[in-house]
Amino acid sequence: MAKIPEVYYGSNISGRPSMFANMTKKLDKILELLDLSTIEKKDKVAVKMHLGFNEGYQTVPVFFVRRVVEAIKKQGGVPFVTDNPTAVYNAVFRGYTQETCGCPIIPIAGVKDGYVKKKEVDFEGITSLDAAGVLLDADVLVNLTHSKGHGSSSYGGAFKNIALGGYSGPTRWLTIHGVVQRDSYFDEEKMTKEHLEKLKEACPRNAPAWDDKKKKASLVFYECDQCHGGEKLCVKADEGKTGWSVNPENFNSFQELMAVAAKTILDSFDAAKIFHLNFLLDITAFCDCYGMSMPAIIDDIGIVGSKDIVAVDTASLDLIAEQGLNESVIRKIPEQYMRVNPDLSTKLHPWQLIHGPLKDPYNVTKYGEARGLGSSKYKLIEVLSAEETAAMEPPKHTFESEPSFF
Ligand code: SF4
Repeated sequence: MAKIPEVYYGSNISGRPSMFANMTKKLDKILELLDLSTIEKKDKVAVKMHLGFNEGYQTVPVFFVRRVVEAIKKQGGVPFVTDNPTAVYNAVFRGYTQETCGCPIIPIAGVKDGYVKKKEVDFEGITSLDAAGVLLDADVLVNLTHSKGHGSSSYGGAFKNIALGGYSGPTRWLTIHGVVQRDSYFDEEKMTKEHLEKLKEACPRNAPAWDDKKKKASLVFYECDQCHGGEKLCVKADEGKTGWSVNPENFNSFQELMAVAAKTILDSFDAAKIFHLNFLLDITAFCDCYGMSMPAIIDDIGIVGSKDIVAVDTASLDLIAEQGLNESVIRKIPEQYMRVNPDLSTKLHPWQLIHGPLKDPYNVTKYGEARGLGSSKYKLIEVLSAEETAAMEPPKHTFESEPSFF
């Protein structure tokens, strides 16, 4: 029988306001349990992050990144933080530098995003993906992820961090995001710009779109919340003229291709040299690529780590479901920002309550599990829990009477 993977969890709730119960100590413990000893001397270690864009500061705090980098160095590894070229170039504005991270920050596919390795795949007529060359040059992968919402899949976690972030821009945006358009959902022959405008006007999310250059209509699936399971206003406005429909397969194909893309990256590494860390802090509705501040709609949960990508994302989603949406924050957010399911008690995952019932966040883990990437059954091991640290004797509190510089 296959071994059930372990998922290590450090909650943001501590039993004492003492350093021994701090999140840093929990991260250290998770790193110890993940056993970084498979990192050999001089191994090049890619710390794959989403460094955000512009003025978005709700990414993984550099404070924790530094801690992970030091742990890698302790093993003799040579770490570097990596992400897409633009995010790397302006990372300094969000506090990420060589000095603060403790290692260089290198563009994942070179400065022009053109250093790629073509990888063969077979999915819905897609035969290859351009994987990021710098990432694949590494010996070790530390998949260091900020868990948050995402328009296309409802959730962006460990899978998304490498499935989209592990590829060049055109593969990421055109091929992987574009896969939602492959299953047809209206009759193109019968569609006109005027008719499309009618559908767009009916949609509170402005999701139906017209491309003037291509003279083509499309649905921006990223924006569509499927009218939260109620009457689909775009379908009503179509009046059957083009057979416009909003189908599960369009949403599912994105998550399935994410699983395919993640597998391609993971297969390029020795399984013993892959580590996943999800930071469930500052959990926003949309992706870090928005590059702006966003309300945290789910309270901080903590840090989750595993060597199994399916387990780490499943556990993160389970913890998010247990935590639920912060209703007092949700109630203040206007519809123009996002629509939320009017019945918050309905049995849907919090990400579906935000992004719509057809965007089931577990799908990517299910597709990943079906491809042998891991197990959705896992053993959650909490480190330095509130109960454990509450029972620990706090050290005598001392105030600094003169600068100690420590
Ligand atoms: S289902 Fe609703 S949200 Fe989605 S495109 Fe149609 S009208 Fe817009």
